[in-house]
Amino acid sequence: MSSRLAGKVAIVTGSSSGIGQAIAIRLASEGANIVVDYRSHPEGADETKIQIEAAGSKAIVVQADVSKIADTQNLIDQAYSQLGRCDILVNNAGVEKSAPFWEVTEADYDTVLDVNLKGAFFLTQAFVRRLRDSKQPGRIINISSVHEDMAFPNFSSYCASKGGIRMLMRNLSVELGPLGITVNNIAPGAIATPINKSLLNDKPKLDALLRNVPLGRMGTPEDVASLTVFLASDEASYITGSTYVIDGGLMRNYHEQ
Ligand code: NAP
Repeated sequence: MSSRLAGKVAIVTGSSSGIGQAIAIRLASEGANIVVDYRSHPEGADETKIQIEAAGSKAIVVQADVSKIADTQNLIDQAYSQLGRCDILVNNAGVEKSAPFWEVTEADYDTVLDVNLKGAFFLTQAFVRRLRDSKQPGRIINISSVHEDMAFPNFSSYCASKGGIRMLMRNLSVELGPLGITVNNIAPGAIATPINKSLLNDKPKLDALLRNVPLGRMGTPEDVASLTVFLASDEASYITGSTYVIDGGLMRNYHEQ
């Protein structure tokens, strides 16, 4: 086992599936103990825990709906009470809802903004309060999206949430720098996970997308996990306030069909 993150504790929201699951396992393989968070798939969270333990690290599983502030506070409390500390926060949990702008409902708007933006906002606040009280440094990594910057017709609430998290990250890098806390975003392009189920099952649409990806393939959750490990490691100690795009070149070559 590598030990770039030995002695650290990380919370990874939405680590019962996809990108969050891969990040949790990869951080663990570098020596971190992990708080595995899920909302509705305990079996996915248990699978993550098994793989973390196989990598030689500790895991606790906590059900927390990040859109509920009491749940976000509980995630932080569980990290400290069961694992003794909390050094790294990965705000990964996310949802998307598709509709033309003029048909977006209040309920769908609230769901997307509450999970993707409000959840990350208040979980980060709870994380920072504990670090500030104990004068400890920390790392915050938000899994945003290329759509923090790039248009995505029919996903206006998703784009608003990801654009919001871009400015939140930029603002917090300034406000939290003096506390020794870094904040960065990772902006994935098209990654093969359950969130893209319908795309993955629609070959013509998938082929059209892949024609726009210079590297010619979807990304994997592990591609995103590698970058997360780097940003969480000591090697990234002078990096804050930026977004790291990981998209096979998509942003430089995107054409809406
Ligand atoms: P995914 O496989 O659908 O996983 C989403 C995760 O978020 C699940 O673990 C889910 O938990 C969790 N989650 C959803 N709502 C939650 C809530 N209210 N509280 C706590 N956890 C919640 O999707 P993914 O592709 O890995 O997406 C992860 C992140 O990457 C998202 O922020 C997404 O926007 C971003 N992203 C993905 C892509 C891509 O192409 N896949 C591209 C750019 C950005 P349960 O299943 O247990 O409910």
